[in-house]
Amino acid sequence: MRIHDRSRKIRNRRYVREGLCINHPNTKAVFGRIHCQLCLNGMKKRYEKAVQGRMCTHHPHTKAEKGKQLCSACRIYGRISRLKNLGLSKEECRKARIALETFDGVCQSCKVEIPRGEQHTDHDDKKKKFRGIICYGCNLSIGNTQESPARLRAAANYLEKHQLTESA
Ligand SMILES: [Zn+2]
Ligand SMILES: [Zn+2]
Ligand SMILES: [Zn+2]
Repeated sequence: MRIHDRSRKIRNRRYVREGLCINHPNTKAVFGRIHCQLCLNGMKKRYEKAVQGRMCTHHPHTKAEKGKQLCSACRIYGRISRLKNLGLSKEECRKARIALETFDGVCQSCKVEIPRGEQHTDHDDKKKKFRGIICYGCNLSIGNTQESPARLRAAANYLEKHQLTESA
């Protein structure tokens, strides 16, 4: 499988270098692309059909997420590859994938239900470790206090102190 993939990659690279379609090496690719016009037309048609049928544009047999053009597997894949690009190890990415796949919709920091599309995959950038799935608000608070537990705790105390004096 691996070897087959690699030889296909090398072959495709040659086609790209020679400006040929990677599916139809007897046909020239459209300038700046790796496919011929026929392939591009087919891709466009498949894309439009998927969007119309509310299917994932990468997996035409899987429903897209509500209001999105991709399925949940694609969304998770996107988040994981982002973490990978940020320098997280394979093991940390695996933890993040499991957390995303089993996520119950509740912010793992403040325990409030997260509105659709607002979940944030949080990680410790210095240690390159996945932390959890949190809401937009928690992500801002954590970021704006330079990830300082002491400052966040002090802010909670500050709020509580004023709430107590108000009700008294
Ligand atoms: Zn082609
Ligand atoms: Zn998909
Ligand atoms: Zn939260």
